[in-house]
Amino acid sequence: MRTLLVLLLTIAGVSPVLGQGTRPPNFDSLAAEATAWLQAYLRIRTVNPPGNETAGAEFLQAVLAGEGIEAEIFEYAPGRGNLYARLPGTGARRPMVLLSHIDVVPADSALWRVPPFSGAIVDDAIWGRGAQDTKGLAIVQLATMVALKRRGIPLSRDLILIANADEEISSEGSRWFTAQKTELVRGAEFLLNEGGDNVMGADGRSVSYGLAAGEKVPYWLRLTVRGEPGHGSRPHPGNAAQRLSRVLGRIADWETPLVLTPPAAAYLEALATREPDPVHRAWLGDPAAALRDPAAVAWLTADRYQNAILRNTVSITVLHGSSSTNVIPAEASADLDVRLLPGQRQEDFLVQLREVMRDTTVVIEAISTPRTAIASPVRGPVVQAFSDAVEAMDPGALVLPRMLTGYTDSYDYRRIGIDAYGIDSWRATEEVHATVHGTNERVPVAEVRFGVEFYYRLVEQLVR
Ligand SMILES: [Zn+2]
Repeated sequence: MRTLLVLLLTIAGVSPVLGQGTRPPNFDSLAAEATAWLQAYLRIRTVNPPGNETAGAEFLQAVLAGEGIEAEIFEYAPGRGNLYARLPGTGARRPMVLLSHIDVVPADSALWRVPPFSGAIVDDAIWGRGAQDTKGLAIVQLATMVALKRRGIPLSRDLILIANADEEISSEGSRWFTAQKTELVRGAEFLLNEGGDNVMGADGRSVSYGLAAGEKVPYWLRLTVRGEPGHGSRPHPGNAAQRLSRVLGRIADWETPLVLTPPAAAYLEALATREPDPVHRAWLGDPAAALRDPAAVAWLTADRYQNAILRNTVSITVLHGSSSTNVIPAEASADLDVRLLPGQRQEDFLVQLREVMRDTTVVIEAISTPRTAIASPVRGPVVQAFSDAVEAMDPGALVLPRMLTGYTDSYDYRRIGIDAYGIDSWRATEEVHATVHGTNERVPVAEVRFGVEFYYRLVEQLVR
């Protein structure tokens, strides 16, 4: 009896005769499939370096092939494969892209409670390196494409699925793909990628759902001072380490100018809707005015995240001087991790930095790829569909537009004119979120169930 009912429902879901397109997917069974796919995907070692992403791409390709969706794998180097698949629509609207990356960061199994490449289910969570970053997202995207294909409803736009190699080290996969295979994403209107951050309180109640419309870019600099070497017992003013220290002191004390970008303004304005304190609510509600008020600035920038989305930032990180305590070095250097906001130019930042350093003998050298950050619109169809999906899954929950202080493959796609949004398919407590790039990375099984429905609703609204 039960088997027969399931069979009938299955037929109704796929048959063009029996009410095609009227029945939403069975998210419970889709989540069960997605869970098994994620376990299998986590068992494929795609640690970067060396990456070995082709093995992961072949797994995704095999699942898609089983659903009658043809996927191609493009290698930019041996073993470094990017996966590409397309579900065709009517062409009434421009295509959209679902993006993830196949590679994962290393995992020290000695520190993990559950082996990092086991995909094991322990304590109602799926464990493995990449469970959140980004194999879990990739599987939910895969399940969404599969569900749309099975349902057979006409799509107003092509749905493209891409899984890139090498996000964790240098984004070579996305850079190569967007340069060499541009025709495959040409005309795409928008893209959904990692990086939204859905923050769940420790009590398990959802607090906020994040959507990243922009991200900062790294602009790493090396400062070098050459001086006069000597014996540490006889100090002299030509000591390179001491001259560098003075310059670094000025940089450390530098409060870089405040710049209000649309994603940061949208973030603060969204926070205002939940802020109980009337003074703080007024500041958050009108960030442009708040940035002219020293008291408001002090309060806003006391939060590290808010500080980082309101200005270009500088962190002094690597220091080199003498290798012996009693030797004055001939040269001293320091690396600065500079992060620039969307729209900020490297050359303008350099002018400001030189003024702050007040030492023209310091040699400044860029040690990262030159980039200018771009933000995507904080309003539009993706933001609307995201808000609607959140409201359907968790009525009344807070939607937070965000800016990432880090950097993802979205950069390469924004650069070729595609609006990109960071949206995560699961919710995480601080404890679970902290396992990304750390030990015991996992995603609760319940969040895979949440994710397949949430993400399907979001994408379906965009491709209908
Ligand atoms: Zn990562």
